[in-house]
Amino acid sequence: MISLFSKSCLMVLESLSFTNTLYAFDFDGTLAKIVHIPSEACMTSKTEGLLKELSSLAPVAIVTGRSIQDLKKRLSFQPQYLVGNHGLERPENDSSSLFEAKRICTVWIESLKKITFESGIEIEDKTYSIAIHYRRSRNKTRAKNQIRLAIASLAPPPRIIAGKSVYNLLSSNSPHKGAAILDLMQKSRTNHAFYIGDDDTDEDVFGLPYNAGQLMTVRVGQKKSSRAKYFIRRQSDINRLLKDIIRFHRHCLKHTSREVHSE
Ligand SMILES: [Mg+2]
Repeated sequence: MISLFSKSCLMVLESLSFTNTLYAFDFDGTLAKIVHIPSEACMTSKTEGLLKELSSLAPVAIVTGRSIQDLKKRLSFQPQYLVGNHGLERPENDSSSLFEAKRICTVWIESLKKITFESGIEIEDKTYSIAIHYRRSRNKTRAKNQIRLAIASLAPPPRIIAGKSVYNLLSSNSPHKGAAILDLMQKSRTNHAFYIGDDDTDEDVFGLPYNAGQLMTVRVGQKKSSRAKYFIRRQSDINRLLKDIIRFHRHCLKHTSREVHSE
């Protein structure tokens, strides 16, 4: 992985402002800091202001594991695209796949309710997927074992995405974040995309079989096994990144308007 803020990488980032690019962001751990109580996560007003500014210059998407309903409550403006439940909930999605996911989640929730989990384990029903959090558990190894056993008892077996102190359960045929990005590129008529995320669920985007240069993938935090090409060190670097993208776009606008005037 290469540091995004190195000179050569910033040039790659700048080149995106001269093309049709979709800028897509994960929410928790990327736009918003990870917090002890997941329901309290929010963007700083600075980050939100910068994201809003960027969305006036280029198509912007937030692609999150949260439900869209939950995400909307955390935003004071709406970017062009919101995708929820790890890629399943997206604009104009076929309602039959949502209906099926909801039906399966209801069955799983009923089974999970019968289990007495130790304290610190929290089950979040996101309508189309389920998140089992153990961030507040005192003994994380024991909590993980208990959750894994519970998941193994579920029918039909879910697709599991392990994240930071969370297990996400999705129906086995649910589209992932990678599929959502491809779909959004089509909808936004962009031929390039920038994506940044911090967790295992984002690897579905990082691993898309795209030509170098067409998809710029960035991870928050360096990780050897990640398929992202670039990294920023920490979540708090997001404002610097947004400022750079905005600066490049403004510069590009000036450049193009100068060319038009000189013709
Ligand atoms: Mg995240």
